[in-house]
Amino acid sequence: MNLQELPERAKIVIIGGGVGGASVAYHLAQLGEKDVVLVDRADLTSGSTFHSAGLVGQLRADPTLTKMNMHSVDLYRSLEKTDTPPGWRECGSIKIASTPERMQEIRRQIGWAKTFGLDLKEISLGEIKDLFPLLNMEGVLGGCYMASDGQVDPSQLTQALASGARKEGVKIFTHTRVLKINTKNGRVTSVLTDKGEIECEVVVNCGGIYAAEIGRMVDVRVPIVPMSHQYLITENFLPDNSVTLPSLRDPDNLIYFRQEVKGLLMGGYERNSKAWKTSHESLDSIPADFNAKLLPEEWDRFEEIATNAAMRVPKMGEIGIKNFINGPEAFTPDNEFCLGESSVGGFYIAAGFCAHGIAGAGGIGKVVAEWIVAGEPTMDLWHMDIKRFSDAYKSPKFTLERVSENYEAYYDIHYPGEERQSARGEKKSPIYDWHKENHASFGEKAAWERVNFYCNPSENKLNEALRPHGWVGKNWHPAVALEHHATRTSAGIFDESSFAKIEVTGEGAAEFLSLVCANNVVRGVGRTIYTQALNTNGGIESDYTVTQTGENSFFIVTGTAFLNHDLGWLEKIRRQRNYQNVSIKDLTEDLACFGIWGPNARKILSKCTETDLSNEAFGFMRSQMVTVAGVELRATRITYVGELGWELYIPREKSLQVWLSLIEAGKEFGLRPCGYRAIESLRLEKGYRAWAGEINSETNPYEAGLGFAVSIKKESFVGRDAVIKAESSNKRKLTALTFSDIKDVPLGNEPILYNGEVIGRVKSAGQGYTLNKAIAYAYLPLEHSEPGREVSVEMFGQPKTAIVSAEPLFDPKGERIK
Ligand SMILES: Cc1cc2nc3c(=O)[nH]c(=O)nc-3n(C[C@H](O)[C@H](O)[C@H](O)COP(=O)(O)OP(=O)(O)OC[C@H]3O[C@@H](n4cnc5c(N)ncnc54)[C@H](O)[C@@H]3O)c2cc1C
Repeated sequence: MNLQELPERAKIVIIGGGVGGASVAYHLAQLGEKDVVLVDRADLTSGSTFHSAGLVGQLRADPTLTKMNMHSVDLYRSLEKTDTPPGWRECGSIKIASTPERMQEIRRQIGWAKTFGLDLKEISLGEIKDLFPLLNMEGVLGGCYMASDGQVDPSQLTQALASGARKEGVKIFTHTRVLKINTKNGRVTSVLTDKGEIECEVVVNCGGIYAAEIGRMVDVRVPIVPMSHQYLITENFLPDNSVTLPSLRDPDNLIYFRQEVKGLLMGGYERNSKAWKTSHESLDSIPADFNAKLLPEEWDRFEEIATNAAMRVPKMGEIGIKNFINGPEAFTPDNEFCLGESSVGGFYIAAGFCAHGIAGAGGIGKVVAEWIVAGEPTMDLWHMDIKRFSDAYKSPKFTLERVSENYEAYYDIHYPGEERQSARGEKKSPIYDWHKENHASFGEKAAWERVNFYCNPSENKLNEALRPHGWVGKNWHPAVALEHHATRTSAGIFDESSFAKIEVTGEGAAEFLSLVCANNVVRGVGRTIYTQALNTNGGIESDYTVTQTGENSFFIVTGTAFLNHDLGWLEKIRRQRNYQNVSIKDLTEDLACFGIWGPNARKILSKCTETDLSNEAFGFMRSQMVTVAGVELRATRITYVGELGWELYIPREKSLQVWLSLIEAGKEFGLRPCGYRAIESLRLEKGYRAWAGEINSETNPYEAGLGFAVSIKKESFVGRDAVIKAESSNKRKLTALTFSDIKDVPLGNEPILYNGEVIGRVKSAGQGYTLNKAIAYAYLPLEHSEPGREVSVEMFGQPKTAIVSAEPLFDPKGERIK
């Protein structure tokens, strides 16, 4: 019951009183934000939260998510000591391996757990049986145990968080339904509920499965699908005085268990997933009265899981079932949360928790509250940022296909280089058919089909000797090395049409970009500048090139996946700093982009153009409009592979003729079409950074080795004060490590040790075919970053020696480029 009146004004309105909304409210209050109202259309916890299984595990593949879940555990543990305990039980968790690959995965996870100080350890078969005596150990190869994992009562947790928020002044109104959200000049202004209107600056959509329809109120697409998710609870059968069992996961059999009172709760991820079709037309419009409700039991779909469970815990076949729960839960297309400020100013999302919202809630509340207060993320949240979703996710069909694939593969081992199978072919380069006819193997990024490599069956020089050991070798192809060598020794041509391309024009554009970019990007028409856009902490929000094309017109090129993210950042600053006359336009689909690089690139391109391509006439980092193969296009002398060459930006419809002319001109030089995997290897040798690879919003340019791209001379740019401080106070540095055996390639996240002490974690890695070495990058403390130091990298439990190496590893003077 609401004892207070709905206020007419509040700074922040949270929509949704599930565990997500309660945690955001709690953390906002902790940060001193008292003018906060939370509304729920029914009772607290009456969405997905009340029917959650409540397992809380901490270690995840993503470092940020692991840190967030660790915060959850710390918080739940501390709330247990308050007068509203959430029912936290630190019973530990076991994961067992029923296949050799899973055992490898477990050993790998034990390695990366060390980098967080998490207490994950391998345990023997005997120890597994002692900890979980109900197990049938047949086929179990081993396992691991984390004592600090646990379980919590989801409803009690929500009440505990809500109570903590209330104590600090947050007002909570149940049975208060949001009907409309008003905006003005691209920002939220008020929320209309069935109990009145609240004027506000910030709205947080914590709507769980309802988040998509709340998003539609401001025309923001929240790509979640309510999926039916099931578990069962047995009758009580455990002895009264028994110790609480740890949670147990057997991913090879798709199942998990935890103790529920004196029985077991058992669930899993079905191979035949099912979206909850909420109406005839829609997947995500939730019926107006759907609160505190469940879906009908679907035993058929649960059969495989039930059979596996009875095999692993034979008691399951003997004991009665007390409850069968089928509840809808909001899944995203990549099984990561959907967080952050949307394209509408002040409209934040904290939804799409993919059946780990209880484990994540503490961390989610913390990072979203910090994001709201700071106006930007305080951790590297790219993997969870709503802006990671390309516009392809506006299609419900595309979204559903991806959600289903990810749901069904939830417990699978994911090997590096794996490509998605569903929702393919959405966006194609204009010369896609040429690639296909020429034996391209495609990968997908942001819904674009991109060439990974070409596997011409007639090629007889394929060298299997370079295939990496273990998991990295699984999706590896020898053609990548050939493409790499062709680029280094003659020339390679790359289709990069998926690059995100943004035009910034209009009165004040130069001043605006000067403010956004850390480098000086206003140096005259025809200059191309590599720059970062920093946040106020000096962290790198974007990493791109800016070409000045006119006094007040600029052309930005950034990574395929970063279009919405980088556009969003530009638009946010334009809004904040009132550059109303500046226009920001997405040109991605208007222009194809081809890169031609290698020692013979100039000779080949010269055959197709009258333009003087000499160093004197067309210098490095210069850009001009030229005619190539009869087509007027923009050529920019730049490289991402460390070789002489150009990127050509071509009107889409005319790009095939340019490509064909270059291929023809390149024949006498052995020009080779190459894919993205070769780019990766070439750029790692050169030490070119990749955003979301080695750099992100948590790393500053100086520690990332990008200080040369910061123009401190400029009086003002976003992040200037912080980055000046960072320059003198950095304690770590992005460092290149090399492995003498080119087949010893880390996957990422492996611990780096010196004298037995963990000093860092691998950020990115790959093979350098010219160096004939495996390469990794990691942030290491300055005292360990001196070239020549020998460190140990733990791969699948095995120590491998790596040498800290001076950068760049290849062509340190940059002679090949200039
Ligand atoms: C079967 C099952 C098992 C699970 N097991 C686990 C587990 O073991 N561990 C784990 O970590 N997670 C688990 N989860 C996931 C977890 O329960 C969810 O991720 C989490 O509860 C979602 O919380 P939420 O706050 O995002 O959404 P919800 O709890 O759904 O809250 C959203 C709220 O928004 C309100 N709302 C919607 N529209 C409006 C409107 N217009 N106006 C006002 N209010 C509105 C709703 O009434 C609702 O209360 C499980 C989920 C299911 C279904």
